[in-house]
Amino acid sequence: MKTAFYPGSFDPLTNGHMDIILKALRLVDHLVVGIGVHPGKAPLFSFEERRDLIADALDALPVATDHLTIVAFDGLTIEAARANGASCMIRGLRDSTDLNYEMQLAGMNGTMDAELDTIFLPASPEVRPITATIVRQIASMGGPFKAFVPDNVAHALSQKFQS
Ligand code: ADP
Repeated sequence: MKTAFYPGSFDPLTNGHMDIILKALRLVDHLVVGIGVHPGKAPLFSFEERRDLIADALDALPVATDHLTIVAFDGLTIEAARANGASCMIRGLRDSTDLNYEMQLAGMNGTMDAELDTIFLPASPEVRPITATIVRQIASMGGPFKAFVPDNVAHALSQKFQS
């Protein structure tokens, strides 16, 4: 059975992350979405909130999610991947900036653990420009962010920034 680990901050989940999750679900037997929780780095949404937003966004779609789990991790991604029984990692690629950074990560991860491969999935054209960082910035300034995130995430963002 092929288990893949898809790590990220998912703070919050965007349509770009959803695109990669849906593609990965079609490719592997079991997908583990790893939400990075780093002490000292305060996220907008707690781990529990981010986990529930991912689960609810997937529940709203007609896709089988019995082969998906969502976990928290801190420390090295390769260790979290191994601890969750994964033989490969999934990363999304938006542009050449992602490619350069992701090639460094994949190369160094591959040196630390030669058995763990990284699979790059290209972002679908309509979600290519989306980044969670800019979604947070738009939301914090009261701008329109609904085109970039699933409906339940848009709702949660509206509540978070309600004054
Ligand atoms: P972000 O870069 O949006 O803050 P993360 O750090 O959580 O998101 O990224 C986790 C993974 O998701 C990375 O592999 C990243 O390249 C991928 N990813 C993020 N946004 C997109 C997108 N719009 N399309 C494809 N992949 C994406």
